[in-house]
Amino acid sequence: MNRRTAIATLATVTLLAAAVQAGRTDDWRLATTLTVVALLLAVQAHHEHQTTRLRTALVQADRKARATRLQRRADAAPLTLEWCCEQWWLSAGRVHEDDCTTLRQSRSRTP
Ligand SMILES: [Zn+2]
Repeated sequence: MNRRTAIATLATVTLLAAAVQAGRTDDWRLATTLTVVALLLAVQAHHEHQTTRLRTALVQADRKARATRLQRRADAAPLTLEWCCEQWWLSAGRVHEDDCTTLRQSRSRTP
């Protein structure tokens, strides 16, 4: 129960107590009005409680899905650092040296 739900619940109970007191003094119009307002607040408290529960479940599901995605990425693409030629490292993977074995292998695979 969050703070808003607690406040709405407390206000509902207070209004119902006031409605009972108004009924004891035969002020039925006031008692009816207080009861209606108390019921509206009870509906609001219930709605707030459900919204909080759904938000919490959504955040937990999102965290779980994010952790699963990160784990899948880590499993699918293991980090491998292999030494290519020096030119490849200096050019951020765009250019190979002429005698690079990786370059020769990629050329031999290309039709
Ligand atoms: Zn290379």
